[in-house]
Amino acid sequence: MLFESPYDERIPRSASTGRPSLPVPGTLGPPHCHRPRRCREDAAIRHYPGHLSIRMEPEPRRLLIFDLDETLVHASEFSLAHPCDFEVGTYLVYQRPFARELIEFAAARFDLAVWSSSSAAYVAAVVERLFAGVPLRFAWSVERCVQRVDARSNSYVYIKDLRKAQKFGYTLERMTIIDDSPEKIARQPRCHLSVTPFTGARDDVALPALLQPLNALRLV
Ligand SMILES: [Mg+2]
Repeated sequence: MLFESPYDERIPRSASTGRPSLPVPGTLGPPHCHRPRRCREDAAIRHYPGHLSIRMEPEPRRLLIFDLDETLVHASEFSLAHPCDFEVGTYLVYQRPFARELIEFAAARFDLAVWSSSSAAYVAAVVERLFAGVPLRFAWSVERCVQRVDARSNSYVYIKDLRKAQKFGYTLERMTIIDDSPEKIARQPRCHLSVTPFTGARDDVALPALLQPLNALRLV
């Protein structure tokens, strides 16, 4: 006995020959399955010869990870010439100009996370102020970094190995970290979006310069 696929019934056939009818010229599929590709949902539908349509799953959002110190804030035990934005313990924290605007811009386009090589208590306090109301996949501190000795400086370097974040369902190709310290992203340099270190200047404009590369990333 021949097995008859239930999908065969969906294929329009010629009344005279019984063969599958050909697509209407100028369309990507037969009239019964062709839809104008105007919206995002329609763009996810691919039509192939043979009349079967396959719905493609939309690409998951990219994960954008923010470093904190010298990327979004500058913390110091000594006051600068202008007042700090908030305090964490003995530290005066200066928020980088446009930090909140960049976070809101990014939150609309990416899944967000934070990874700092500072202490867990410090990260929690800064995140509470800076990312208020913004959902994060995680907020990691130095405990998640890999500690290594830098032979050149003979000091410790705290490496952020992004493979640890793959457990949240993102491949390395769909992760980007904004960080002022390239040595901390040395294991995945292709995932690194570099930014100049922020030392508290009120006229710093490094963050608005990230909008264009972030927009380009969203399309990758
Ligand atoms: Mg940093």
